[in-house]
Amino acid sequence: MPLDTTSYALPVARTIQDLRATVQKWRDAGETVALVPTMGALHSGHISLVDLGRTHADHVVVSIFVNPTQFGPGEDFDAYPRTEAEDAKQLVGKADLIFAPNAREMYPEGFSTTINLSGVTAHLEGLSRPTHFAGVATVVAKLLLTCLPDVALFGQKDYQQLLVIQTMVRDLNLPVKIIGAPIARDPDGLALSSRNIYLTETERATAPHIHRILQEAAQKAAQGADIKALCAHGMAELKELGFIPDYLEIRNATTLAPFDSNSVEGPARALIAAKLGQPRLIDNIDVPSA
Ligand code: AMP
Repeated sequence: MPLDTTSYALPVARTIQDLRATVQKWRDAGETVALVPTMGALHSGHISLVDLGRTHADHVVVSIFVNPTQFGPGEDFDAYPRTEAEDAKQLVGKADLIFAPNAREMYPEGFSTTINLSGVTAHLEGLSRPTHFAGVATVVAKLLLTCLPDVALFGQKDYQQLLVIQTMVRDLNLPVKIIGAPIARDPDGLALSSRNIYLTETERATAPHIHRILQEAAQKAAQGADIKALCAHGMAELKELGFIPDYLEIRNATTLAPFDSNSVEGPARALIAAKLGQPRLIDNIDVPSA
């Protein structure tokens, strides 16, 4: 299939071959490439990654692929928003190429390889979504090996995912620099997410409490407060507000392992996952050093 240059104001590669050919042309001209992997339904958080990519490379490729293997049974794969034409509009003047393969292109018949990480996947999202990170690692490895960018950008919004990808790239010696980008938020503190559109008006008004509770927990943890008590208090508050919290934890910022003692020791991160109505929201924040 030739490069699609007619559907949108931005060229779209639908096949691995077309992505590789386009990137190769840039490489032949001595130009550098940034990759921003996404599942589409783009918002300003994604665009901030694209803008950051632009400061690191001559060309920016945005992949849009709702990756079936990172959704577990009963999760929202079918309901996940798909807004390709709108996404393309947002990327005009920002990205150079969209890579939007279909599932058959990424997972042809007989596809048999899965990348599994231990360590950082043993916590938090890895417990709640046992097959999630294998799906993420496998698709990201494929995207990196297909595009072979100089840099690839991932949001700290998905903090554990960022750690998983940094670990995989290090372990497999993939020749790419991973850049973690800050979390883009609405003015009231809610982290931007493609799933926020599923919040009702009332839920949307409640959702920023996630950020407030994280901030309060992080500040108190930095002042030496008991982590378990802080997290238990935050969980109770989330429940009172109508969330169904999955976890609120303050963890080692590099391994996500719990601390041995009741207070933080070294770099720490506060992380939340909670359902509010239909969507499951995640967010996290740095625990400032004391
Ligand atoms: P997704 O389309 O949700 O898979 O996200 C694609 C990339 O955008 C991931 O690296 C996310 O971490 C990142 N991202 C999503 N939301 C935000 C946000 N609010 N701020 C910064 N990066 C984000």
